[in-house]
Amino acid sequence: MNWTERFSADAHAIQASEIRELLKVLADPAILSFAGGIPDANLFPLAEINRVRSIIEADPAVDRNSLQYSQTEGYAPLRDWIAASHSTPDIALAQDNVLVTNGAQQSLTLLAAALIDGGAPIAVARPTYLGALQVFETRRARFVMVETDDDGILIDSLEAAFQQGVKLLYTVPDFQNPGGMTIPEDRRRQMIALAHRYGVPILEDIAYRTLYYDAPPPPTLLSLEGAFLGEGVWQTSGLVVQIGTASKSLMPGLRVGWTVAPRDLLDKLVVLKQANDLHTSTFNQMLAYELATTILEAHTDMLRRTYRARRDAMVDTLRTHLPNSAHFSAPKGGMFVWLTLPPGLDGKALLEKALVEEKIAFVPGAAFHADGSGKNTLRLSFSTCPPAVIAEAMERLSNLIKREAQRLTHL
Ligand code: PMP
Repeated sequence: MNWTERFSADAHAIQASEIRELLKVLADPAILSFAGGIPDANLFPLAEINRVRSIIEADPAVDRNSLQYSQTEGYAPLRDWIAASHSTPDIALAQDNVLVTNGAQQSLTLLAAALIDGGAPIAVARPTYLGALQVFETRRARFVMVETDDDGILIDSLEAAFQQGVKLLYTVPDFQNPGGMTIPEDRRRQMIALAHRYGVPILEDIAYRTLYYDAPPPPTLLSLEGAFLGEGVWQTSGLVVQIGTASKSLMPGLRVGWTVAPRDLLDKLVVLKQANDLHTSTFNQMLAYELATTILEAHTDMLRRTYRARRDAMVDTLRTHLPNSAHFSAPKGGMFVWLTLPPGLDGKALLEKALVEEKIAFVPGAAFHADGSGKNTLRLSFSTCPPAVIAEAMERLSNLIKREAQRLTHL
């Protein structure tokens, strides 16, 4: 059977990335990986998970409910907690503004299904989260690129995209994956004003928001939209839809994420999810709820301290050893440093060399560009290695980049 011939047009629209092939070598324990955008599994709160699990399992009624089919919207106490903790001074979220999903990734899938018709133009940053691009590709969206600087989305470029009639903007305003940028408050306010001038919904992905290492990030787009509209108006006039997750601050294996949206949109997402997977694991939602309401704050504090030291090790070493012709971001949170290579160097070619000569892995940046640009960029994740390991590896990587840049000038 030639299955390729039978693929739908939507299936043809999504392609496996060639980077995946290169990164298969990560199974080799000798390779030091700065590639994965993942939390450090050594920091998972295992003792607390076991404690909470035994509480759930000790109560037969709770235990049975946790394993029975359940409502699509999600576990009510968790939805209440999400509503309360994401309400803003002007937006009082209720349980029916919250849908619990199988990770933020499913939130993106459902929102794309609800809002994007085949071929519809949508606005995404250059660069942006690869997993979002994949979702939008399955809807056969047409990407309109919004340019960025070290502070994220450029307002003129955003307005130009809105003038082209895009159906939505997808954005990660805090410590972006992959670029590490955080959009300042004045730009956020301008984004809200523009969204309302042109009537364009904004999907605000706050996956990394609580992982800040200097000061908390500016108010969310949701909160600023609340202030822009005035109290009580968001339910009927809001354009900002927020996507969150327990993956970065607790554990991604829980597959617990959520969407916060005005009710009319949320109701449609619920129907779409029902068709998709009925509901998210109730047991995992109970676990997430218990952890969120007991240890989350202290645990996130510990993550901030730990990741801050790793961020500092990466940024300080790159600052000392990278050639001046390379440029990198010093992120205020999240997991990523974004590096622009000296002119003429290619991220993919450098990865091949780094794997062989230095046993170091990272992700070449082109993967995060909807239009295939960004070949001279790369993403480095600092979340999984101790500071001393990061410092040693970044010195070697910097020296490799220096050697490669010098080799080019001597050609
Ligand atoms: N949004 C962003 C910006 C991400 O980086 C990720 C995960 N890498 C996700 C969404 C998906 O997260 P989840 O595990 O909640 O599906």
